[in-house]
Amino acid sequence: MRNSFSQETTQHFAGKKVLVTGGAGFIGSHLVETLLSFGAEVTVADNFLTGSRQNLAGLSSQLIEANINQPTTNYLPSDYIPDVIFHLASPASPPKYQAAPIETYLANSIGTHYLLQFLKEKNPAAQFLFASTSEVYGDPKEHPQAETYWGNVNPNGLRSCYDEAKRLGETVCGVHAREFGMDVRIIRIFNTYGPRMDLNDGRVIPDFIQCGLQGQPFKIYGDGKQTRSYCYVDDLVAGVLLMVATPAARAETVNLGNPGELTILETAQTVHKVFAALAGQPETTLEESKLEFRSLPSDDPTRRRPDISKAKQLLGWEPVVPFEEGLKYTIASFQKK
Ligand code: NAD
Ligand code: UDP
Repeated sequence: MRNSFSQETTQHFAGKKVLVTGGAGFIGSHLVETLLSFGAEVTVADNFLTGSRQNLAGLSSQLIEANINQPTTNYLPSDYIPDVIFHLASPASPPKYQAAPIETYLANSIGTHYLLQFLKEKNPAAQFLFASTSEVYGDPKEHPQAETYWGNVNPNGLRSCYDEAKRLGETVCGVHAREFGMDVRIIRIFNTYGPRMDLNDGRVIPDFIQCGLQGQPFKIYGDGKQTRSYCYVDDLVAGVLLMVATPAARAETVNLGNPGELTILETAQTVHKVFAALAGQPETTLEESKLEFRSLPSDDPTRRRPDISKAKQLLGWEPVVPFEEGLKYTIASFQKK
């Protein structure tokens, strides 16, 4: 973890019972690791749809292998009462969620409902954090995207199993906050990368790293002029923890991401540059022969960049790891493997 935390934040979690759904995934496993370092008692519920046991290797969290798309009584011990739930269980990579569309919409909709109903009954004072996404903005007509923007989503497109389900998950959270006074917080995560991503999961950063490691050309979907903004996982996890530890963030919805914006072609160039730097080679321009253009998947958002003014003001949070540095840590971690 490359971020430091105030004593207030670490104390918030020390000794608490924390349930992390999706804790065996990329972001979840980093979150679990940091929570354990704060002295939290962490339980992970995961069915390894897209995560792995390996991600939790060496961590002292409890692991319950379970699908969260079912009532919690089916998988949580009857005497287990958490103080905090981080609900992260859901595939996040477009090819992965499109390969499991029903599991995806259930995890974010009814999965969220079951978890909140469980808390309402067992511990209505507990805190609940829902991992929503920048995808709720769809192919955004406002740029950058602030939380006040309602989005431009195709309700029946290839991405809808994910983005509409996240939108419904947000609704489920809002209803439980309003109707039952529960402590619910929503984060909208923008593209995040780092060690422990699944190199085969089809997202752009692991795809480019995989190509770099194998000396293959980078696959560019469309003309490569679409943009994304990439946040290093430690920065993201710091924001996630602050979101729960900050009293004023109760019932709020907050963007978490890095506002640096790059086209996909610029992304490929940067990954290429970092590979060269790690190999001690001089910086070169990426040649055409190192690019393989493919057709753009439908509903692929044209531009994406978070407006993080709210996170700055409410949480005092902003990313600190520059893209090239985060890529170095990430590529080096895969080279070590
Ligand atoms: P990931 O695929 O690495 O992790 C998801 C984890 O959830 C995996 O361990 C998977 O096995 C588990 N899971 C999925 N469905 C489940 C189910 N029904 N029951 C139990 N476990 C289940 O993805 P990630 O990148 O770590 O994303 C974590 C969360 O953050 C997701 O909710 C995702 O939508 C959200 N998010 C991530 C990004 C990003 O850039 N990484 C961006 C926006 C939102
Ligand atoms: N992309 C690409 N090459 C790849 C993987 C993805 O050009 O090997 C593009 C993809 O079409 C999208 C962007 O990179 O425009 C980001 O894709 P990703 O799957 O990482 O996440 P998204 O932000 O689209 O959910």
